[in-house]
Amino acid sequence: MDLNFDLHPEDEHDRRLVRNVHPPDWRNPTPDGRYNLVVIGAGTAGLVAAAGAAGMGAKVALVERHLMGGDCLNVGCVPSKAIIRSAHAAHAVSDAGRFGIRVPDRVEVDFEAVMDRVRRVRADISPHDSARRFTDHYGVDVYFGDARFTGRDRIEVAGQELVFARAVIATGARAAVPPIPGLAGSGYLTNHTIFNLSVQPRRLAVIGGGPIGCELAQTFARLGSEVTLVEMIDQLLPREDLDAAEVLRASLEGDGIRVLLSTRFEGVDVSGSAKHLFVSAPDGHRQIEVDEIFIGMGRRPNIEGLALEAAAVAFDRDGVTVDDCLRTSNPLIYASGDVCLPAKFTHVADAASRAVLQNALFPGPRKRFSKLTLAWSTYTDPEIAQVGLSAAEARDRGLEAETITVAMADVDRALAEGDTDGFLKIHVHPKKGTIYGATMVCRRAGDLISEITTAMHAGLGLGDMAAVIHPYPTVAEDIRRRAAEPACRSMPSV
Ligand SMILES: Cc1cc2nc3c(=O)[nH]c(=O)nc-3n(C[C@H](O)[C@H](O)[C@H](O)COP(=O)(O)OP(=O)(O)OC[C@H]3O[C@@H](n4cnc5c(N)ncnc54)[C@H](O)[C@@H]3O)c2cc1C
Repeated sequence: MDLNFDLHPEDEHDRRLVRNVHPPDWRNPTPDGRYNLVVIGAGTAGLVAAAGAAGMGAKVALVERHLMGGDCLNVGCVPSKAIIRSAHAAHAVSDAGRFGIRVPDRVEVDFEAVMDRVRRVRADISPHDSARRFTDHYGVDVYFGDARFTGRDRIEVAGQELVFARAVIATGARAAVPPIPGLAGSGYLTNHTIFNLSVQPRRLAVIGGGPIGCELAQTFARLGSEVTLVEMIDQLLPREDLDAAEVLRASLEGDGIRVLLSTRFEGVDVSGSAKHLFVSAPDGHRQIEVDEIFIGMGRRPNIEGLALEAAAVAFDRDGVTVDDCLRTSNPLIYASGDVCLPAKFTHVADAASRAVLQNALFPGPRKRFSKLTLAWSTYTDPEIAQVGLSAAEARDRGLEAETITVAMADVDRALAEGDTDGFLKIHVHPKKGTIYGATMVCRRAGDLISEITTAMHAGLGLGDMAAVIHPYPTVAEDIRRRAAEPACRSMPSV
């Protein structure tokens, strides 16, 4: 097996990473009887399922074909948030004039040092997800190799058969790469390869205006690349509130990004080191010359090679089919994480695996995925966070909903910090104060949304939020103050 994994084999951080998450000298154990639980895939979903089951005394096998930690640690959340931090630093310096601070020379980005830090952070975090930790601390049997079902209650991995009472498919997803003319041979980047760059692209095209595309477009622009962001529909972040997407578009354009909405990527032609993109925009066809292309056009589930038919597990192009208890068409087999859920986030994979543990290993009440209060965030500047239902979704469900909006331009702390772009929209029952959902667009929205998530989870209403004493001046305190205004104050908790 190739152990280079597209990483930098000579890099000390990458070597440390691989030693933890796929030790080159690893010897698979020999199965000794039936496992209570076999988990396929050691990303967040698989790690949570394996650690949880082993912690409860189950005999557990965990199978990984590549790097433990999955996308989140290796090619997703961790490296993306690490490089975003460098982009914030560059932006803070170049933006310092707004606060009366003069920086004599223009900002210089040492891209090699930025990427060295990204790899270091990833390696520093990797012991949490390491093969040794799962073996020595949790007592899990860790196997490296491709898992493939050979029957309703068994899989094969690296020439050995593992028999199970229950199994969890947690094989995740990968970047969707559509069959666009010229793309396959163009040397395009995806999340699997972009964090291995050691030379900064001078001109970068980002295809896809979802969370991954927007985060990386802004990051590379702030580090100094000339970025063009191409999105097929007429809105960035198609799943989010339109006003939130508009605030983000303005922010990205403020960073110098050329944002092309309603624009279809139709082909690419490579000549020398330049890549010519052919796009079709409302005003006609255009050609854009860049040095690198990043593809962020959605995710495809990793189901190929699993021989799901051999286990009678139903699937379609969106992934493994599960019911609300995350059980597949084979009652012995569950699924969790990106391979089966439309909400492809680490914390959702984590929460889903906790539900799977309850449902797969214990009798009694079933945990239903639809009952979970889910929040998510896009880590652009400003951040865009969402919890629960949008106003339209609340209306579609026939709920009586009123939207309370707080503009950041009216928030004392946001004014003091110079962060007045953004808002909070909170959707509530007009009389009872029941919170149905919220959208937050501001600095650290991903953290701040958790207060509303906690209130929703605990069944607290807007009136309860207003009764909590918050420090002044904070964004949270301004929200509390708004919740305490007469129209909201009459709302008792539900
Ligand atoms: C650039 C980027 C940034 C992101 N940022 C965030 C963020 O900030 N916050 C957030 O919540 N989410 C973020 N995500 C999403 C997050 O990474 C995923 O939702 C999460 O990793 C899903 O976990 P998972 O366990 O379902 O799948 P994965 O992490 O993909 O793990 C699946 C594992 O299964 C293994 N596997 C696949 N097939 C087999 C097989 N046949 N046999 C054995 N092993 C197999 C794979 O090698 C992989 O290790 C980001 C994603 C990307 C790409």
